[in-house]
Amino acid sequence: MTAYPHLLEPITLGNLTLRNRAVMGSMHTGLEDYVWDLPKLAAYYAERAAGGVGLIITGGYAPNKRGWLKPFASEMTTRLQAQRHHQVTDAVHQAGGAIAMQILHAGRYGYTPFSVSASAIKAPINPFKPSALSTKGVDQTVDDFARAAGLAQRAGYDAVEIMGSEGYLINQFLAERTNHRDDIWGGTAARRMRFPIEIVRRTRETVGEGFPIIYRLSLLDLVEGGQTWDEVVELALLIEDAGATVINTGIGWHEARVPTIITQVPRGAWAWTTARLKKEVAIPVCASNRINTPELADSLIADGTADLVSMARPLLADPEFINKAAAERADEINTCIACNQACLDHVFKNKKASCLVNPRACHETALVLTPTLRPRQVAVVGAGPAGLSAAVSLAEAGNKVTLFEKGPQLGGQFRLAMAIPGKEEFAETLRYYTRRLAVLGVDVRLSTEADAASLTDFDQVVIATGVEPRMPAIPGIDHPKAVSYADVLDGTVTVGNRVAVIGAGGIGVDVSVFLTHTPETLEDWLAHWGVGDPDQVRGGLTEPTERTPAREVVLIQRKTSMIGKDLGKTSGWAHRAVLQQSGVRQISGATYDLIDDAGLHLSVDGTPQVLAVDHVVICAGQESVRGLYDDLVTAGREAAIIGGADIAAELDAKRAIKQGVELGCAG
Ligand code: NAP
Ligand code: SF4
Repeated sequence: MTAYPHLLEPITLGNLTLRNRAVMGSMHTGLEDYVWDLPKLAAYYAERAAGGVGLIITGGYAPNKRGWLKPFASEMTTRLQAQRHHQVTDAVHQAGGAIAMQILHAGRYGYTPFSVSASAIKAPINPFKPSALSTKGVDQTVDDFARAAGLAQRAGYDAVEIMGSEGYLINQFLAERTNHRDDIWGGTAARRMRFPIEIVRRTRETVGEGFPIIYRLSLLDLVEGGQTWDEVVELALLIEDAGATVINTGIGWHEARVPTIITQVPRGAWAWTTARLKKEVAIPVCASNRINTPELADSLIADGTADLVSMARPLLADPEFINKAAAERADEINTCIACNQACLDHVFKNKKASCLVNPRACHETALVLTPTLRPRQVAVVGAGPAGLSAAVSLAEAGNKVTLFEKGPQLGGQFRLAMAIPGKEEFAETLRYYTRRLAVLGVDVRLSTEADAASLTDFDQVVIATGVEPRMPAIPGIDHPKAVSYADVLDGTVTVGNRVAVIGAGGIGVDVSVFLTHTPETLEDWLAHWGVGDPDQVRGGLTEPTERTPAREVVLIQRKTSMIGKDLGKTSGWAHRAVLQQSGVRQISGATYDLIDDAGLHLSVDGTPQVLAVDHVVICAGQESVRGLYDDLVTAGREAAIIGGADIAAELDAKRAIKQGVELGCAG
């Protein structure tokens, strides 16, 4: 009996046989856009192909300049471009993989003044208003899709994917929300569907029989004026007739105000929509969104939900995902925690993508972990994200590593983060490191406080002693009502029903969610976000049901800016929405006067007031713990200092883990 037999079973799509049913879904990394980055892109994909995934789908390539995602973004429009792509396709094939190129026309999501759409209607998430394509222009755009597919075939790609979801141009033609045309490309649902059907039909004519065409179909638009379920099914059948080989699935337009892939979305939350579509079509269907473990992927194929499973970010997090699953080493998979912090947040800020838990992602040619020529005895002090990453990387490089942790458990700030509702995935990162430490034979010493004397016999010392919560000098800060966020999250303190939270950074917001949260099923979660049955409501969007918060929480900051303004680009809006849904009262521009038996005394705009609360949870940032480092420096010893111990002000797991990996790669 093999592990994950359904996921690892080969499948034939047209003239292409995949070694398994795992698809690395399309994700833009920023390496697609410039010719000089192609070698890096080739290395990035080749590493995933070597890691066993069945099919890789590239980030989106525009079929013409009007379809760019941003100025000078990736496109596939000339034979020269196709020729250059051979370095990508050859690298993947040499590593034993298969690769499809995605064709994406951004439509009104194009961040350029030259964007086009079905109608001249501005997207709420883009300052640029598109112009409406002329009737002839639509016809030309269809031809451009087909030409891009032909060029992809010439470039050595094994398949193409036509991007028909997430609110890009094809959706803009399909939905009455964005298509107000009265020519042959609009007016009725049937005429709105003509655009994708013609694209698939002409693409099939161009690439010939047998070449796989994947069509990514939006199952739930999650916007007002989106498609009905009947329209989705009708489109799927017409797409099948027009010559598509596979239907991949997508959920939600980018402008939708329902989270679809971030950590708080339950795993496999959208699989029910794929299962429903699969019953309607004869060609294979691929499930996607918030699938990050081989167990879940395998079960979705086993229970007939889907024929293939797409996982984009999980393959950024661990290129060897499939090989590890196949070798019954799934407990060694570095699981994507759906944080978006280093992948999509980077892309939306015009930076190259990477991965919080795997900083080598998209930096394969720069961060190379090679066995050291001089194995050393290394001490790593502190087992938070920075220390865990350093210990694992230095051991992977062949060093003999001892990891000291003064507490009884591994994890540091990660252990606190995983207590937050919707951030439970952090536990996977801890499981990954714990297992890797064991596999690599790292000497882990828990409940052991290292001092300068105990480190004398080591060749290299890494200080990752982390942070401690800052307790600001507010009068009454020693009152029993004042507690630190760490004590609340680790269960040392149980707070009362009325709580004030001081400090509205990432942790203040998280703690407010923690304090107001009540357990919810998937059905509750969908209802809280206003997701309805698409059979009943257009676009699958309905009125949200109200949450019943567990406590009354007031979240306070001294700044006058909007609370949560600096949270992640692609997830901050959802955290802010949960605060609203949970009835968290927000106060900005406060000064703190006193904490006493009456509660928290504060002034806002010079007006004093008292919040009669049971507890005041302090989330006022952190201070570095660097006493040991200072002792070593005083003693003339050399040591590296990383993570929060290095810089507390920007306490950041992304930087902490990267610093650890860099130490391992330094040789
Ligand atoms: P933070 O983001 O620096 O926020 C701490 C807040 O405390 C500040 O915004 C500040 O706001 C307030 N503060 C600072 N000194 C104070 C003082 N002396 N008295 C009263 N208030 C004070 O720190 P954090 O919330 O602890 O988060 C730490 C790091 O974790 C962040 O850098 C973030 O990267 C990461 N994180 C992110 C997320 C997320 O994105 N969802 C979640 C958790 C953690 P005022 O000065 O305006 O009062
Ligand atoms: Fe997953 Fe976060 Fe890595 Fe993105 S940065 S791939 S969401 S773990």
